[in-house]
Amino acid sequence: MPPAYRLALALGLLAALANIFGGLVLTGRAWERRYLRYFVALGAGFMLGTALLEMLPESWKLDPARAPFLLLGGYLLVHLVEHSFIPHFHFGEETHAGAFSHGHLPLSVMAGLGIHTLFDGVAIGSGFLVSSWLGWIIFLAVFMHKIPEGFTMASVMLAAGRGHRAALLATVAIGVASLLGVALMLLFPLGLPQALPVAAGVTLYVATTDLVPEVNREPGIRMAAGVFLGVAILVGLRLVFQGL
Ligand SMILES: [Zn+2]
Ligand SMILES: [Zn+2]
Repeated sequence: MPPAYRLALALGLLAALANIFGGLVLTGRAWERRYLRYFVALGAGFMLGTALLEMLPESWKLDPARAPFLLLGGYLLVHLVEHSFIPHFHFGEETHAGAFSHGHLPLSVMAGLGIHTLFDGVAIGSGFLVSSWLGWIIFLAVFMHKIPEGFTMASVMLAAGRGHRAALLATVAIGVASLLGVALMLLFPLGLPQALPVAAGVTLYVATTDLVPEVNREPGIRMAAGVFLGVAILVGLRLVFQGL
């Protein structure tokens, strides 16, 4: 196995563990929950920058004719699985217990979020197929929202009355989906010209439609500033490692 593949899988595993850690924050009080919102704000900015400045240009290079359509498709795919089939879903702690009184809803959320996390993994795998720079940057973008993502998954299970064990198992499931996404890309690298723009659309959706609304719910400038800081960190890394 080439070293880049091994690295991609190791980082995919780390991202999956962050999902589980996010669940532990909720069920085991492993960490200060209030730090989560800064991860959401930073992650929103960093992911937005990664999608627009890194993943888009590379996608365009691979297939300029189809990339715009695949990007839009990736965006709409997450809209479909997270917000069309599921009547109630948002990032952050689920406190609307009444929204989950109908039996199978938490499993639908798990399935919807699982498709999104599958593409988190596809994004990391695709990145490493292009360059180690792109792989690392996408990994960081994914990693920043993985803890809030696991937290969200676990809180949906708890709000549905499923208990701590089921909540943790659900975070394991969405984590495994991410790892599977990385492995799929490494097994089928010829799919890169299609997978990268779709993953870019997914990343754009998660940044703008899942994370930014959570940032905007908080009053004051601190959270809003976190988004700019996230973009600034990405641009700073580009300056240092790529010379812009
Ligand atoms: Zn809710
Ligand atoms: Zn994700």
